[in-house]
Amino acid sequence: MDARRSYEALGVSEAVFNYAQGVLAKLHDRFAKIDEIAECNQAKVLAAMQKHRVSAACFAATTGYGYDDLGRDTLEKVYAACFGTQAALVRPQITCGTHALAVALSANLLPGDELLSPVGAPYDTLEEVIGIRPSPCSLKEYGVTYRQAELLPDGGFDFDAIAAAINEKTKLVTIQRSKGYATRPSFSVAQIGRLIAFVKSIKPDVLCMVDNCYGEFVELSEPSEVGADMIVGSLIKNPGGGLAPIGGYICGTQACISRCAYRLSAPGLGQEVGANLGILPALYQGFFLAPTVVASALKGAVFAANLYEGLGFRVIPTGSEERHDIIQAVELGSREAMLAFCKGIQAAAPVDSFADPLPWAMPGYEDEVVMAAGAFVQGSSIELSADGPIRPPYAVYFQGGLTWYHAKLGILLSLQKLVDKNLAELPAL
Ligand SMILES: *Cc1c(COP(=O)(O)O)cnc(C)c1O
Repeated sequence: MDARRSYEALGVSEAVFNYAQGVLAKLHDRFAKIDEIAECNQAKVLAAMQKHRVSAACFAATTGYGYDDLGRDTLEKVYAACFGTQAALVRPQITCGTHALAVALSANLLPGDELLSPVGAPYDTLEEVIGIRPSPCSLKEYGVTYRQAELLPDGGFDFDAIAAAINEKTKLVTIQRSKGYATRPSFSVAQIGRLIAFVKSIKPDVLCMVDNCYGEFVELSEPSEVGADMIVGSLIKNPGGGLAPIGGYICGTQACISRCAYRLSAPGLGQEVGANLGILPALYQGFFLAPTVVASALKGAVFAANLYEGLGFRVIPTGSEERHDIIQAVELGSREAMLAFCKGIQAAAPVDSFADPLPWAMPGYEDEVVMAAGAFVQGSSIELSADGPIRPPYAVYFQGGLTWYHAKLGILLSLQKLVDKNLAELPAL
């Protein structure tokens, strides 16, 4: 086999290649499990597409109001069928994941209602949506209060604290599946199901929303199949399969989704308007590819965890842990190591491989941030990317890879850059 030569031409030394192949040799069973899940999820997507008779007519572009848009309406039925919900809102007019979450929350919370996060602090950008950090048009400005129950020190749910936090005002519970850029564990669909059951046992009419970002197709089922009233995510992450150029989704009960549609467009209009602008082929094909794309990203994450763990770095999740999302954190211990790692990811990219990722003061963040991404879709994080705030413990968050081989090359080059600068040492063979 001459893969070694191919990698050599891309700048990977024989020593790095050999170490990596040794790591890979032990991952057969993990990879087989990932493929098995992808196979089942592929069947799920295909069944949904066939059930709703996806045809070439669904790919036609519409403009203007977009009344009777067959392609848009069918895509929403496909998402709903695949994720086991009554209804779905899947639109290019939903600009990103944060927007989808903001729509879902503001559509289903009214003045005087309270929002509860039973899993500690939410994703960074939601702080302004909720009003934890003061922001114009936040839920707080509209009279929606917020409460959170912290996780236990081991990352588990604090059921006593959650029970104590639920009161007569509690209307909606928001559960973030992925750890995002925090160090808590991500939650399995089964764990989320138990949490939802607990919340509903205390207050049956409370709405449960799951921030599903980075979690789609990682497991055999989604949180909507274990009781969530709404699941929400971004199309430039998992379900867009790398092809969707923009968009977000909300899948859930008809009652919740109708309100989301009225919030997104206007009261009275709801889901009836919203031209597709010609991007539906990418949304359909991306959804079709998503299970295998997610599998590639997962293999990359598992490989990176084991590769770096073997060199003595702390990795979250560990090399042997089960996965609930596609994010892998690696604690590199220094600014130089973070920069070297990101340089390697960047050098492996199909786009902008010649760029040098430099730290910068990103708006909204306290510390400088370094990012590596060479993506076809700007900002897409289902494509191979790495980033992190430059502060102890100097962790990079690594995710994506449209193909496993690209993810592998990125990880090999990240290690190569570290080895070249004496920031990592290969074990003696
Ligand atoms: C990415 C992400 C979001 C926000 O999505 P954007 O598309 O970046 O606005 C929200 N929650 C989690 C857990 C995420 O990973």
